[in-house]
Amino acid sequence: MGNMRKCPVCEKGTLVRKKVPYTVYGVLLGTFPAEVCVGCNEQWFDEETAEKIERIEKQKGLFGMSKQSKIGYSGNSLIVRIPQSIAKLMNIKKEMPISIYPEGKNRIMIEI
Ligand SMILES: [Zn+2]
Repeated sequence: MGNMRKCPVCEKGTLVRKKVPYTVYGVLLGTFPAEVCVGCNEQWFDEETAEKIERIEKQKGLFGMSKQSKIGYSGNSLIVRIPQSIAKLMNIKKEMPISIYPEGKNRIMIEI
């Protein structure tokens, strides 16, 4: 201990070990030991912790949830297909009312 490593991202802050909450797709998986930059707040997990997080993601059915999709077309509308794994997790059903709006130039939000 005692070696103050510099943050490789901002190159200003030093890294401290502390427990941080880890959330994926809005689901809190727990708190895990990490090295955290006091400057930019970037976090690193060691290999063992990363594997543990992956195991919990798999247990909760959250692993590999980010999927590639393509814009489809129907009548005058463009259609985005929601993968079944995401529909199941979010309990999204056919005919369900949603709000959809742009957030920035390359992100669309869907609220259910
Ligand atoms: Zn930093």
